[in-house]
Amino acid sequence: MEEQLRSEIVRFIGTHQGNHLPESSIAYFEQPLVGFSAAADPIFHRYRQIIGPFHLLPDDLLSGAATSVSWVLPISSAVRESNRVQTDLPSREWALTRTYGEQINGDLRRHLIAWLGERGHAAVAPQYSPLWKEFSETPVGIASSWSERHAAYAAGLGTFSLSDGFITTRGIAHRCGSVITTLALTPTLRASVSHLSNCLYYHDGSCGVCIARCPVGAITRNGHDKARCRELVYGTAPEKLSEQYGVAQTGCGLCQTKVPCEARVPVL
Ligand code: SF4
Ligand code: SF4
Repeated sequence: MEEQLRSEIVRFIGTHQGNHLPESSIAYFEQPLVGFSAAADPIFHRYRQIIGPFHLLPDDLLSGAATSVSWVLPISSAVRESNRVQTDLPSREWALTRTYGEQINGDLRRHLIAWLGERGHAAVAPQYSPLWKEFSETPVGIASSWSERHAAYAAGLGTFSLSDGFITTRGIAHRCGSVITTLALTPTLRASVSHLSNCLYYHDGSCGVCIARCPVGAITRNGHDKARCRELVYGTAPEKLSEQYGVAQTGCGLCQTKVPCEARVPVL
């Protein structure tokens, strides 16, 4: 069943009619990565200490939860290239991926709930749960009651970075998501040495390229200033570009492009 579900996610993204820029055949996303973690994995309890007591357990979201299914949708090389030349604000292609690509990510969540349901397994998307909430003042800054990146880490898909991103075998430029299901699946091995080991800075103290890429100084050798980042991502960038690009959300992603971890694990 693991391979069936993985293939279904790959098929869905590969054949989604909307998976391309409006005026061209350039895809938003390339082939997804998929991983599984056991709902009973103690790591979800640790997240309540690391992120905050408000972070939900799989069983809080779905009674009888057995597996958290995570995926990573790597942003295509053409979209990444368009953002590499940007220095202050994201490219139009990046902004369209943030808006329309995320809609496809939502379609995938809904599709998997239906697909699993047809096979007799209950499923929920934490992102769409009434229990999903955002908290602005926590010891780790702005945080939500379910972190897609932490779920992806639990499912062995990568590690965190100096820029607060998530570096997978296909790099840091991606969108990710998850559903929780009562279907029991074999968990994917977490092969990384630590939760930070894919980032060159944490590996050997080198790199730091993302620091210079951030136009508002939100990344330093001490980490990522979420509030400063959000001012650009949800404030300045949409204010300046929404009308021109025709989308409400533009993202930014400058720290995810023209960096050694853009499309690979740079440590390997
Ligand atoms: S650019 Fe370098 S320091 Fe920044 S997240 Fe990527 S690997 Fe880490
Ligand atoms: S997303 Fe943009 S504003 Fe936020 S840290 Fe990265 S480069 Fe800076």
